[in-house]
Amino acid sequence: MSKAVEENYPAIDSWRCDTCGKQVSVQEGYVIWNSNGPDRDFRIIHKSRCDDKDLSSSMALSDLVGADGIATLLSFLTVGSLAYVPDGLSGDKEINLTDFADLFRRLHVPNYERARRHFGDPRIRDFVGGWNERAMYMPEELADIAAVGEAKRDD
Ligand SMILES: [Zn+2]
Repeated sequence: MSKAVEENYPAIDSWRCDTCGKQVSVQEGYVIWNSNGPDRDFRIIHKSRCDDKDLSSSMALSDLVGADGIATLLSFLTVGSLAYVPDGLSGDKEINLTDFADLFRRLHVPNYERARRHFGDPRIRDFVGGWNERAMYMPEELADIAAVGEAKRDD
């Protein structure tokens, strides 16, 4: 049994607002993005008060968590095998996968949101040196990354 199942991580219920930097709960959160072109610029914000009218699409954060949220997020990638796609066209959507994975992990991978704010810290770059791209995004390792980022600097 995987560590994640053993520990039964609680559902993620708090994020950091990309506009004001304060905590956002699932009840007050909204996700906004640009629906034109592959760079969606996904942002998690406080509904209304931290909105950016330049971004044309929005959805309640509560609609993007849990199993329904995963199903919704996957519809951002492809229309899937059930939907009709005319011959010669693709059901795959034009989307920056790095941006998508960042949003998906923020919403669904335990400790990612906590670790993410430290990704620019040079100590984190040193810490994950040599780790593979799966390991560095696993919940337990993300907790370790967050701890390094949250530790007081020596200097
Ligand atoms: Zn805010």
